[in-house]
Amino acid sequence: MHRLALRLLLITALLLLCRTAPAQDAPFSIILEGGTVYDGLGNPPVVADVGLKADTTAAIGDLSGQTAETRIDVRGLAVTPGFIDIHSHASSGTPEESSIFQRPLAENYLQQGVTTALGGQDGSSPFPLGAFLGRLDAQPAAINFGAFVGHGTVRARVMGAADRRPSDAELQQMASMVAEAMKEGAFGLSSGLEYTPGMFADPEELITLARATAPYGGLYISHIRDEGGKLLDSVAEVIRVGEEGGVKAQVTHHKVVGPDRWGRSTASLALIDAARKRGVDVASDVYPYTASSTGLTILFPNWSRAGGNAALRARLGDPEQRAKIRQDIAAHLSAERGGDPATIVAATCSWNHALDGKSLADMLEDQGRPVTVDEAARLAMELQEKGGCQAVLHSMSEDDVRRLMQHPMTMISSDGGIPAMGAGVPHPRNYGAFARVLTRYVREQKALSFEEAVRKMTSLPAERLGLAGRGVLRVGAFADIAVLDPATIQDHATFARPHQYATGVRYVFVNGTTVLRDGKPTGARPGRVLRKTDQ
Ligand SMILES: [Zn+2]
Repeated sequence: MHRLALRLLLITALLLLCRTAPAQDAPFSIILEGGTVYDGLGNPPVVADVGLKADTTAAIGDLSGQTAETRIDVRGLAVTPGFIDIHSHASSGTPEESSIFQRPLAENYLQQGVTTALGGQDGSSPFPLGAFLGRLDAQPAAINFGAFVGHGTVRARVMGAADRRPSDAELQQMASMVAEAMKEGAFGLSSGLEYTPGMFADPEELITLARATAPYGGLYISHIRDEGGKLLDSVAEVIRVGEEGGVKAQVTHHKVVGPDRWGRSTASLALIDAARKRGVDVASDVYPYTASSTGLTILFPNWSRAGGNAALRARLGDPEQRAKIRQDIAAHLSAERGGDPATIVAATCSWNHALDGKSLADMLEDQGRPVTVDEAARLAMELQEKGGCQAVLHSMSEDDVRRLMQHPMTMISSDGGIPAMGAGVPHPRNYGAFARVLTRYVREQKALSFEEAVRKMTSLPAERLGLAGRGVLRVGAFADIAVLDPATIQDHATFARPHQYATGVRYVFVNGTTVLRDGKPTGARPGRVLRKTDQ
């Protein structure tokens, strides 16, 4: 018995050795020659060769005397760790319809240098998570994938769409479901407090559930309760959940909605700084656009959404409640959206794609109706009754986006998934978020140095997730690597024409395998399922 255990231990140790330190004399599978190598930690680059063996970065330095199966001249190009998207919608929807299974080559990600995506966001995740991840083990994608467990998903399973506090038994049941998902590999708990049913949870409920992830090193990542008028209270709530739940916390897609509130990013970042100073490990992420994208229901008052979409439709059928909903939407449009129906654009209306790309103002004009806040509120209700739409909402200022992005504890995320090329008019972040940071904010505005931007896309999210051996380019780390031209990288997706890949990324390697060569996907799918329990 003893001897068997010892032998197993030896074999395991040998296997581990083989993975992390391949034999010195075996040739490299790939040598990237003469690139400008960024470590992902924000250090200045060095010009060096990078040698890959199996799934690992095996050497960095002068490898001119070494043998390799493939040598690639990358002189003049940046060699960086592959980017990590800490807020991805690649797993949104049912497993069958989730984009990581539908479009596993993830070309929109590869063309931006992204090698890892984290799904299960905004309170909504696959459940049971283990089944989803197991399926992905069997049908891997080109990129690595990990997930959070969604608070809203768990709450809906226990309480439906009820607008009330959970009973003690219900809360306990939710906590054990969260713990179960953590055991299956979740990286923490996500919440979506502007959505049903997340919005019905009070901070105590969130604290209890965050605490259930603490033994597993969970991160609490939150789409906060209010990104406009109550931004500061909402950021404070995330900090409180992190502090009292005993976990790291993250304000995801940190933004300031509504012209009257622009500039408040200074105050929301000050809250984060103050919390960090007293030991609460809180951070945030941003996507580099001044418009958001979500369901049109975001315009509707919370009370009207209790019980979900069917209940909302029933309320719209009641004249008295309908009048109240219209007033509340109009008030929201005035207070949160600058009172301008042109700022709200239908991205995808599944029941009438002729509306895709049109703003509420366009639709009112097409119908010969006055372009007023009241009329736009009426139109929003009509659209919702017919099946609703995904919308793009232009509501932020460039100054806030830049200030949030420049904060040392802010990382870059896309909040996008893997879109179907040509379908609907989705937010351009799906195709361009990472490239746009390097284009607009590094090269054009010089708001960030290149190495700092890379840090925000690599080691910073890896550190938040506790992701071992990724997000850094060093010997022994997994060979998740992007090779790109900082002088020409460019996002091309716009709000009017979003279905355009970024350009300027030449090569991408995932776990040592080439997934993008000369700017073209190879079709390889070496992505791995990442589980917090393995880190
Ligand atoms: Zn969100």
